Amino acid sequence: MLASRHIMTMDDVTADEIALILETAESFAEVNQRRIKKLPTLRGRTVVNLFFEPSTRTRTSFEIAAKRLSADGINFSASSSATVKGETLRDTAKTLAAMACDLVVVRHKYAGAPQMLAEVMDCSIVNGGDGVHEHPTQALLDLYTMRQALGKLAGLRVGIVGDICHSRVAGSLVPALRKVGATPVVIAPPTLLPARPDVLGAEVMWDLDEALPALDVCYLLRVQFERADAMPFPSNREYASLYGMNLARMAKLPRHAIVMHPGPMNRGVEISADVADSDRSVILEQVESGVAVRMAVMYLLLGGADSGAAA
Ligand code: ASP
Repeated sequence: MLASRHIMTMDDVTADEIALILETAESFAEVNQRRIKKLPTLRGRTVVNLFFEPSTRTRTSFEIAAKRLSADGINFSASSSATVKGETLRDTAKTLAAMACDLVVVRHKYAGAPQMLAEVMDCSIVNGGDGVHEHPTQALLDLYTMRQALGKLAGLRVGIVGDICHSRVAGSLVPALRKVGATPVVIAPPTLLPARPDVLGAEVMWDLDEALPALDVCYLLRVQFERADAMPFPSNREYASLYGMNLARMAKLPRHAIVMHPGPMNRGVEISADVADSDRSVILEQVESGVAVRMAVMYLLLGGADSGAAA
């Protein structure tokens, strides 16, 4: 079990709990290799996916995770709900609360939406990405993938490259890495850094080529054009020439280093197609880890271990 009922930010989980989540995910990863990938653990529990922003990986992997644990899953998408008729998030939340669900995964363009739901709903809330704030299960699956690939987390030097100021992935990954004893380094042009990069708690570098030889992990971020008020650099081509990962840059990484990306990728902008598809890239392993890690999160939040039907 976890001390908090919710995972809304990385503040909700301690270093010991991260270790427990990753360990639990490992046993679920084994289940995901079986021919029959289903456990009775969360039978009778209801999980609602409440997505107000587009998603491919996060929504489907939460959905698969719920199904593999035998929970009843409901998918709510804003475009086909009363949201388009003007219903507020608070009223939608109260309506769902009246239906007695056990866990809600929420994605919303506003930072703090998960906290607002937690005020009006009597169930566990998992943040599936809130605006430019946090995306904690992405950070957890990233830690899991790094540990699988490199055998450890403590001491790793992880470069997070690109659109730091709009990235909820960076918002969770930086504190997550610090909790496990790794060193986050954010690498970006000043126009894509927050006004006070020091508050992130990461080292800051501007020159990717200078940073590469010392990295264990090079984590590329999508440029979030949809969140920027104006084009943050002159052209995609210029961005790619200074901050895009390509084969020449990949050769500057130590031989053991891996390349990561949360998806969706803008091939040819922050990452070239040959790097994305290379054997140094663990981007599909991240997706695979997502299912096991989200199973672990649901299991630990809903007290699966106490239900008498543990894995
Ligand atoms: N899928 C991630 C997110 O929802 C990253 C991205 O969209 O670039 O934040």
